[in-house]
Amino acid sequence: MTEPDDAELPDLEAGRLLFAQACAFAAAAAAATQVPASKLPEVAFAGRSNVGKSSLVNALTGRNTLARVSQTPGRTRQLNFFALAGRLMLVDLPGYGFAKAPKGEIRAWTQLLREYLGGRANLRRVCLLIDARHGVKPSDLEFMDLLDETAVSHQLVLTKADKITPAESEERRREFAELARRGALHPRLIATSAHTGAGIALLRAELAALALPAAIA
Ligand code: GDP
Repeated sequence: MTEPDDAELPDLEAGRLLFAQACAFAAAAAAATQVPASKLPEVAFAGRSNVGKSSLVNALTGRNTLARVSQTPGRTRQLNFFALAGRLMLVDLPGYGFAKAPKGEIRAWTQLLREYLGGRANLRRVCLLIDARHGVKPSDLEFMDLLDETAVSHQLVLTKADKITPAESEERRREFAELARRGALHPRLIATSAHTGAGIALLRAELAALALPAAIA
């Protein structure tokens, strides 16, 4: 496994400080017109249904940030916006890979996503969550194509890393090395576990590097 140089590692303490602060639900959007105006740098989380997105965002923020929205029926196809410390907007994109959904619903959802990704000037990165046990699936590749088309920088984040063996971990790294040739893909793969906390501090630090600077007291 090749690790990046220490010099490239983001500031773990900055990540800890940012994510120790309040994270509040800001808005939900089921249509492009409902996407809130915001000047905050933005990071969106995407992935197949059941990838562990709610668990990861809750682990990052240290609280049940997503519990409120994910338990509300009918809210599953919305974009949910959360403001973190007035410095970074976190956006929960609904899970994809929903083969059983009606075609019209899929079309409407893809259109909303395309408009959001293509028109959001302050969107700094999409964290694309991949279940460490399954690796990158065709629906993930389709989503990556959309990110390429809309020129949105994205980073792959493995979830449920506690569930895989070192050999499987190597396999994921090999697959990632193949994908890393893609232009808008961030060069660091982060393996996380919401259960053990592995990789959470590193991901917080990566995202803190995109946030507005802390106000000087
Ligand atoms: P979402 O649908 O993408 O929001 O996924 P959830 O966060 O609801 O998680 C889906 C399932 O994966 C649940 O049963 C979680 O307990 C499980 N899960 C999520 N994160 C982890 C993890 O880090 N390790 C393990 N072993 N299971 C996880």
